[in-house]
Amino acid sequence: MAKHIFVTGGVASSLGKGLTCASIGMLLEQRGLRVRLQKFDPYINVDPGTMSPYQHGEVYVLDDGAETDLDLGHYERFTQAPLTRDCNYTTGKIYLSVIQKEREGRYYEGKTVQVIPHVTDEIKEAIHRLASDDVDVVITEIGGTVGDIEGLPFLEAIRQFALDVGRENCLYIHLTLVVYLKAAGELKTKPTQHSVGALRQIGIQPDVLICRTEHPISAEDKDKIALFCNVERKAVIEERDKQFSIYEVPLSLVHHGLDEILVKRLGLKTRPLDLDDWSAMVERIKNPKQEVRIAVVGKYMKHRDAYKSVYEALDHAGIANRARVLVERVEAEEVGSRGAEAILGGVDGILVPGGFGMRGIEGKIEAIRFARTHEIPYFGICLGMQCAVVEFAREVLGLEDANSTEFDPATDHPVIWLMEEQQSVRQRGGTMRLGSWPCDLAPESLARAAYGTDQIAERHRHRYEFNNAYRRAFEENGLVATGTSPDGTIVEIVELLDHPWFVAVQFHPEFKSKPTRAHPLFREFVAAALRQREASRTVASIELEAEVGAS
Ligand code: GLN
Repeated sequence: MAKHIFVTGGVASSLGKGLTCASIGMLLEQRGLRVRLQKFDPYINVDPGTMSPYQHGEVYVLDDGAETDLDLGHYERFTQAPLTRDCNYTTGKIYLSVIQKEREGRYYEGKTVQVIPHVTDEIKEAIHRLASDDVDVVITEIGGTVGDIEGLPFLEAIRQFALDVGRENCLYIHLTLVVYLKAAGELKTKPTQHSVGALRQIGIQPDVLICRTEHPISAEDKDKIALFCNVERKAVIEERDKQFSIYEVPLSLVHHGLDEILVKRLGLKTRPLDLDDWSAMVERIKNPKQEVRIAVVGKYMKHRDAYKSVYEALDHAGIANRARVLVERVEAEEVGSRGAEAILGGVDGILVPGGFGMRGIEGKIEAIRFARTHEIPYFGICLGMQCAVVEFAREVLGLEDANSTEFDPATDHPVIWLMEEQQSVRQRGGTMRLGSWPCDLAPESLARAAYGTDQIAERHRHRYEFNNAYRRAFEENGLVATGTSPDGTIVEIVELLDHPWFVAVQFHPEFKSKPTRAHPLFREFVAAALRQREASRTVASIELEAEVGAS
């Protein structure tokens, strides 16, 4: 029977609960256990797909096409656990199912349908769904902060869960913030006490406290937390902010003995922990041999997490190339207003990520033109591919008003247009072309060289696509389709001939990159940017020598 770990959060949001769950999953896997991870989000949207990235950060897409919370990205980057649409439930998704059953009429046998037991049963079923025979541990993260009204049904459900499967098979971890009061020059444990108090009132006694803190927690403070929160002293775990990278988190949790506590408390038999590969990867992060500057030109730059997986994948590519990737977050509108040279002059590579809507489009197109004409490595993702196609059509094919019909439905040259399957779609939620689709790669292409194989599968999230009526004109002028759907109808990758590295893809490769296994396209993009940096340095030193020689 599977064991269960439930992770709640207290005092403040954004403490890194997702990262902690992912780290725990990784540590248990590295002890040979089979792990599944799941997140509950207490908001009413059925999934984050309909939310603005400003609200929610990135929408993370799974192979099966589920649009999920970005914490699932951490789960995938840290572990091998398979993720499906059963791994992310919102209040909306739970209620939708309950209400559908009620409308069917038979399911609730004429009873009054209520939060307890019907909604809580629905939540518990979602947890059971992951606990199949071939799973040792299910880790369930409860989004939000203890004390939120909207989180109550989830907390009630995980309380009941221990009654159903036995308290000895469940472990509750509470992630909390130990606040530093600058004026007093000391750490304050009271908010943590209150947060655990709120949890205990609901009937959940945490077994482990993970205390996020900017400063070391003294033995005295740990004693106090243990006593007032009724948690074993050694199960009060300190988690300090990391200096280099989020990938250090599991190592520090091990340092504080967390994995040992978990397996003991749950009575799990495991092999010894093997962190060799992970530690080697972290060492590479700490000791890069070179640096490279990549501009990410997008539209939601102010939100730290709007392109979360893209930033992570760039870091992974840095690890693979033994380089520190310095990301410049560029507002596309700025490129439009101040000009590409002023903003992008001196970067070694340019990436335009996915996006929706008109704002910033012209700035993105200008950034791509700059990359194309200055031979700067370019990587376009989804909207970044569509903009590259529009740019090329306007400048090289001379189709001045070429556009995507997303931005100009009346354009004479719809080089990007709505996919046929999308034309009858009226509802917004969950209706894009989503999830993993196969793609055949052309021999001799940069993509084929990067992947080292002829067929790949990548994740998608789009409604618009390359218009095949223009394919010939593009290819005759040097922008070639090097990846298509196996039936040849959907252009998935375009590459520019006569350019050091210009690859643009309709899919989202960032969702499949891992710190220990960088995505091939990100890896090769950063490698090309490093070559570009080297080349521009050589040119600069030759120019300098010439100057010195002349003077
Ligand atoms: N807005 C474009 C489309 O729907 C691109 C989507 C994206 O970048 N994810 O096709």
